Amino acid sequence: MIARTHDLAAITGLIIVVVAISPSQQLHLATILVAVLANQIGGIAPDIDQPTAPFWRNLPIGGLFGRMIGRMLGGHRFLTHSLIGLALMGFLVNLLLVFLQPIMPNVQIEYVWWAFMIGMVSHLVMDSFTKEGVPWLLPIPVKFGFPPLKRMRITTGKNLEKFVVLPLVGLVLVVVSVTYYSDLVDLFRRHVVG
Ligand SMILES: [Zn+2]
Repeated sequence: MIARTHDLAAITGLIIVVVAISPSQQLHLATILVAVLANQIGGIAPDIDQPTAPFWRNLPIGGLFGRMIGRMLGGHRFLTHSLIGLALMGFLVNLLLVFLQPIMPNVQIEYVWWAFMIGMVSHLVMDSFTKEGVPWLLPIPVKFGFPPLKRMRITTGKNLEKFVVLPLVGLVLVVVSVTYYSDLVDLFRRHVVG
């Protein structure tokens, strides 16, 4: 899937989880902002194994780094596209957040962590709809996809993704946001400034 689809899927996933669990705790505005950022990073993070990922494209020598990291991670759609990779990234991101906590004291890092993880899971779910599939159960070297029949799945970056899948994800985002509008407004109304 292309980055734009992943971005949209990540925020849609986040909003679905938020309205499903409707956190009763007061959130700092800083938490909400950092969580949304973390969610978007999580949404494209698995593609750090891809030299051409937007993640690397925007860095000056990103192409070179991207190729090196990609090779270390076993090539595209390998470690970072599996449950083990998900657990590993979750562990590392938790370490990073704990490390960063002193410079962002008002940010409730457990929410940021969840937002990141939701972004990452949404990435793997979306990639599962593509022809390549996702090696969910590494080290078992089988790539899973939905529907199970490969030729019924999507080719990344083709018109079906751009003009059907992307708008569909957008539609889900709009429908959920409109349906739970008051819950979402309430979440912002209850936030603490800082
Ligand atoms: Zn991917």
